[in-house]
Formats: sequence, C-alpha cells, structure tokens
Amino acid sequence: MPQSLTEIKALLEARGMRPRKRFGQNFLIDHNKMRMILDAAELGAGDAVLEVGPGTGALTEWLLEAGAEVTAAEIDRDLAEILRERFGERESFALVEGDVMAGKHAIAPAVLEAIGDRPFKLIANLPYQVASPLLATLALDHANWTRAVVMVQREVGDRLLAESGKDFGPLSVAIGLMCEGKVVTHLPPGCFWPQPQVDSSVVLLKRRGEPVCDDLKRVMEMAQTLFQKRRKTVRAIVGTEVASAAGVDETLRPERLTVKQIVGLADAAG
Ligand code: SAM
Repeated sequence: MPQSLTEIKALLEARGMRPRKRFGQNFLIDHNKMRMILDAAELGAGDAVLEVGPGTGALTEWLLEAGAEVTAAEIDRDLAEILRERFGERESFALVEGDVMAGKHAIAPAVLEAIGDRPFKLIANLPYQVASPLLATLALDHANWTRAVVMVQREVGDRLLAESGKDFGPLSVAIGLMCEGKVVTHLPPGCFWPQPQVDSSVVLLKRRGEPVCDDLKRVMEMAQTLFQKRRKTVRAIVGTEVASAAGVDETLRPERLTVKQIVGLADAAG
C-alpha cells in the first residue's frame, strides 16, 4: 500500500520535523493521482528514473515496485535520512543528497554522474522553485532523457505547453523545440498535505529524437529578445528586414508567433 497521510506525518514527527515551505514540501496524498503519474511513466523493468524531491518516498516506492532503477535527488537532510533508512539497502535505489541544480542552467554534477549515459525518465512531484529551470535545462542541454512525467504548479504547466497567447514565452519555446507534451491531469490543493495555495498539473513531455532546429542557443536568444518586449511588434523588436526574410508578419506581437517562426527569425537575424 502507498504511504498514507498518517504515515507521512508519523515519519516527519519521529524526527521532530514539519513540512518545509522553503523546499516546496507539499506531499501528494491522493493515490489515484499518483497512479496516473505512474501510468503515464510507462515504466518497464530496469528503466532508469530520475526522481527529484522524493520527500518521504511515497512515489519512490511505487517506482521501485514497478522495477525502475531510481536515482533520487533530495535537498532536505532529514528527508534524505528517512529515504536512506527506507531504501538504502536496495540496489535499484541511489540517493544524491543535495540540490538537483548547480545553478539556473546546470544540473548538479553528482546527479548527472549518478545517472550516467543511460537513457532515463524524469518522474517527479517537483518542488516549485526547481520546475522551470530544471525542465528548460533538460530540454536544451541533455539528450539522454526520453520522457518526463512531472507535477508542477498549474501555471507552470500552462507555460510549458503553451503554443501561443499570454502563457507563451521562453519556457514554452525551450519545450516546444525539443518535446511534445500534454496534460495528464489537473489537481486541486486538497490532493496534497499541506495544501498549496494553487492548483497543480501533471504534465507528460516526450523528447523528440531531433530538435526542430540546429542552433538551439541562437533560437533561445531570439526568444529572450522577443519576450523581453512582449508588448511590442516583431517590426519594433527585430526590424522589417529580418521579419520579411523570415516570412513573418511584422505586425505580430511575440506571443502570436509559433516556435517555427521564432526559429525563422533567429535564422534570418544570423
Ligand atoms: N515526492 C514527494 C511527494 O510526491 O509527495 C515530495 C514532493 S515535494 C513537492 C518536493 C520535494 O523536493 C521535497 O521533498 C523537497 O525537500 C525537495 N526539494 C526541494 N528543492 C529541491 C532541490 N533544489 N533539489 C532537490 N530536492 C529538492
């Protein structure tokens, strides 16, 4: 049986610990939603999984039972201790204690080392501070992941998957360049303990074999330039010449462009 709320509370209380807001500790206590994460992960025996923020290990337990080889990164020292006690003996479990990120654009070397060159899946109820930088970094700089099933704040999920409009921005472009994605399910605050103040979404991202362009860095620079001035027109931002070389309507605002058009503008700007 998966961990119940009572068990999670007992594990924390035994260490005199309460959920830490600064680490985004909202534990998932809805087992139907957890099952949906697992189903979307499509795990096979021996699949390598990166779980960021395993917490008390509720999802970890299911991943291990499904036969996955789990590398888990947990920043909280007390939770890391709980995890070592629960899974430390298992060969298919490796714990990296510390921040999964080594900066805004880099995954911690210890995490990369633990995963190695194997293809892996990211399956995680992500801490809110980490979701956007981690997913953008994975999309743009790492080729050996195949699928991500991640719980994020609903607003972040909207930005990840936006193809135009107010949520469309650099994060959507990074994901759109490398992945196909969809919402698996939305979750109200009551699915967590303690309850967050916002709704959440589980998002499935599948990494494409080939990116939609060759020079991701240049396209991301163009995306940053455009979205820093999202109220202006393409003409005002990059000029008529670049817009017309890319075949893009110069009167559009950045949020009306497609990822392909942003690639075109980056190419035309040279
Ligand atoms: N996996 C558990 C669950 O589903 O109930 C807990 C998820 S909770 C939303 C986020 C977890 O990420 C917490 O365990 C927290 O300590 C951990 N965490 C927060 N920031 C982190 C970071 N930068 N690197 C690694 N883990 C982090």
